[in-house]
Amino acid sequence: MTPRRSPIWHPFTQHGIEHNMPEIARAHGAWLETVDGKRIFDAISSWWVITHGHCHPKIVAAIQQQASTLDQVIFAGFTHAPAETVASQLIGMAPAGLAHVFFSDSGSTAVEVALKMALGYWRNRGEARTRILALEHAYHGDTVGTMSAGARGIFNAAYEPLLFDVGRIPLPLAGQEQQSFLALDAACRSGNIAAFICEPLILGAGGMMMYSADALAELHRIAKMHGVLFIADEVMTGFGRTGRTFACDHAHITPDILCLAKGLTGGSMPLAATLCMEAIFDAHVATDRARMFFHSSSYTANPIACAAAAANLEIWQTKPVGTRIAALAEMQRDALCALQQDARFSNIRQIGTITAFDVSSSDEGYLSDIALPLRRACLDRGVLTRPLGSTIYVMPPYCTTKSELTHVYAAISDAVDEVTA
Ligand SMILES: *Cc1c(COP(=O)(O)O)cnc(C)c1O
Repeated sequence: MTPRRSPIWHPFTQHGIEHNMPEIARAHGAWLETVDGKRIFDAISSWWVITHGHCHPKIVAAIQQQASTLDQVIFAGFTHAPAETVASQLIGMAPAGLAHVFFSDSGSTAVEVALKMALGYWRNRGEARTRILALEHAYHGDTVGTMSAGARGIFNAAYEPLLFDVGRIPLPLAGQEQQSFLALDAACRSGNIAAFICEPLILGAGGMMMYSADALAELHRIAKMHGVLFIADEVMTGFGRTGRTFACDHAHITPDILCLAKGLTGGSMPLAATLCMEAIFDAHVATDRARMFFHSSSYTANPIACAAAAANLEIWQTKPVGTRIAALAEMQRDALCALQQDARFSNIRQIGTITAFDVSSSDEGYLSDIALPLRRACLDRGVLTRPLGSTIYVMPPYCTTKSELTHVYAAISDAVDEVTA
């Protein structure tokens, strides 16, 4: 074992094979820069969080201003302007009908809050509904509750005894929609279902698997027909990735509960929000303290994070963000066109600003030998990627230019050649 000087234990990192991590000193736009001045293009938006670009001046200024005014305050029984601003801006942007905003710190906590809201809703209504339905291949986070809702595999095998059982619905992939709809309908009929949770239109960590807006609308219709709460986990898809502000917008649906995190602050600060319909909030309102929503975390609605989010949402209101996203989606489409004829790649797909394709020859699965060598080979060429098994995806910040994107795809192409040679 190579001796390490750093005491840090990194996330999703096998320290037995991953050594010498680049040390990043600064970032600007779509680029990272190491301490020794090497520039790296951030082709995965720093794990799907950066939207407009790194260190956006408006967001930086808002953080600086807020940090010297009000850094943190207990949010139980108190409120503050940055949180109020973000909440009302979110209600204005989100699908119509969502009426309340609960703040937390990460995508995982946004989903945990959603699951707890759903169970609290039914309990306070006196109905015995406690079971959760989720899609196969789902990813909802790494805490115990979100792992339970997510697909089982090597990532959570050690924790399996602690995970609660959920009903699994097959993905409504093209040509397989009916099996999915029938399975959801049958599962909802079993009576004790509290909620159905899904990643709308694209399953991220599950392998960038995509399904249609029509299928999403049908899943929503079936759940609602049975009175089952519909939870949309838009932690990855939210804030423009799919070409619209939220993936649910493509299907013209309003989920009962909407989970947001990654892009909420433009990627600058950890903050999450779980939005819900009036009825879910109302079910928790009474003069009886036993009916309140029993959830908090120390930094709930941290003012600095909220100021960053408010600045981000203001950018959405005042700048042509939609136009930029449409332009990036178009550039991505052109880049994929070139790959269509390329025998090295299969299952070439896109939604909005996200593209994905599989390296044809390699083994399946997250631990597939190709992922780490590919990541390294891309990094050698100055591009940050993080293939999911043999699936390569490109999810860049919205400020990405055509020539930067050309650089990304050229690096990937060369890297694939090097690794598969
Ligand atoms: C990343 C992600 C999460 C978890 O978010 P964290 O901030 O990493 O806890 C949950 N759901 C989806 C769809 C995600 O992509």
